[in-house]
Amino acid sequence: MLKARQCIREMREYSSPLETPAADLRLDLNENTTGCSPRVLAKLRGIDASTLSLYCSRESGERLVASSTGVQPSQLMLTNGADEGIDLLCRAYLDAGDELIVVVPAFAMYEVFAQASGSRVVRVPAGPEFAFPCENILQAIGPRTRMVVITNPNNPTGATASREDILRVLEAAPDAAVLLDEAYFDFCGLTMMDQVGTIPNLFVARTFSKAYGLAGLRIGVMAGDAAQIAVLRRVCPPFNLNAVALACLAEALADREFVSNYVRQIKTTREWVRLQLENLGFKCWPSETNFILCRFGSAKSAILQGLRAAGISLRDRPDCEGCVRISIGKQQEMERVIAELKRTVGQVTSAQQVAP
Ligand code: PMP
Repeated sequence: MLKARQCIREMREYSSPLETPAADLRLDLNENTTGCSPRVLAKLRGIDASTLSLYCSRESGERLVASSTGVQPSQLMLTNGADEGIDLLCRAYLDAGDELIVVVPAFAMYEVFAQASGSRVVRVPAGPEFAFPCENILQAIGPRTRMVVITNPNNPTGATASREDILRVLEAAPDAAVLLDEAYFDFCGLTMMDQVGTIPNLFVARTFSKAYGLAGLRIGVMAGDAAQIAVLRRVCPPFNLNAVALACLAEALADREFVSNYVRQIKTTREWVRLQLENLGFKCWPSETNFILCRFGSAKSAILQGLRAAGISLRDRPDCEGCVRISIGKQQEMERVIAELKRTVGQVTSAQQVAP
C-alpha cells in the first residue's frame, strides 16, 4: 500500500481555520476587514489577458520591495504568503532529527512545516504574562538546533521581544536559521530588517496579508543574508508568486496612505475594544497588532457560541487557557461585537443565577 513518509504519517491533520458556512463577520484570522487599497482594485480591473497567460518573474517585485524595506534585491525573496517563506526555510535548513525551537503559544504553521521535514519541534513556553522567554530559549539551544522562530509581536499573545534579546538568540545559535516573523510589523514598527546582511543567520518575514489587506493575493517577503536567500531560491518554484499579485504589488506599495490610515484606525478601535472588554471584567493583553487576546475564562465556550450564532467568528485559543483572539475590525463592526458580547454575557450570568 502506498505510504507517505513516516514524519508525514505522524503529523496531526491540520484543519483549516476557515469555517463553513462562513460567518458574516470574520474576526478569527486577523484579516483586514476594510479591504485593500482602491489603487490595487483599479489595477486588478485593468489586468489584460497576457498577464494571465504568461508566466511571470518575481524580479521586478523584489526590486520594489527591496527598495521599500532598505535591503538589496539579492537579500530578499517574494513568497506565496509568509507561509511559503516558513516552508522554504524548513525545507532548506531542517534535516530529519534536527530541532526547531518555537515559543508557545505560537502561530501554527511553524510546527506543520517543521514536522513535514521530519525534524523535532522544541516548544519553549512563554514566560509570565506570555513574556518572551529569552533565557529558556538560550538554554534550549543545542547541537541539533537548526532553526529558532521568534514572532515579533507574537501571534496570538501580542507579546514582543526586545532587540537585545533577539540579538542574544542570534548570537547563541550561529548554526541555526533564526526567523524573525514580522507579520504584524506595520502595526508596531519593531523590526530587525536593518540587520539583514550584517547577521548571517537572521531571516525576517513580512506579509501583505494584514495591513495591506491582501491575504487573498498571497504575497509574503523573506529577507536574509544574500548567500542564504540564494539557498532558498534553490528550493522555491520559479513561479511561486502569481502574476496578478505581482501586477498589484507596485500599487499596494505606493498607496502608503491606505496603510497608515488603516493602522491608525486599528489602534484607536483596538484601544476602544480593550476598554469595553476590561469594563466587562475580562483581562486583555497588550497588543500592537490588529488583534487582541482576551481571557473569557469559564464563559469562553458560551461566548464563542453566542457570537457565532450572531454571525461573528472569533478565534478560540485553547493553548492560552480560557482565551480568545479577537481580530480588530472597523469601529462599527466592533460595536456590534461588544453589543453581542454583552447580550451573551447577560445570558450566561442569568443562567448561572437560576442554576440550582
Ligand atoms: N506569520 C504570522 C505570525 C501570522 O499570523 C500569519 C498569518 N496569520 C502568517 C505568518 C502567514 O501570513 P500569510 O498570509 O502571508 O501566509
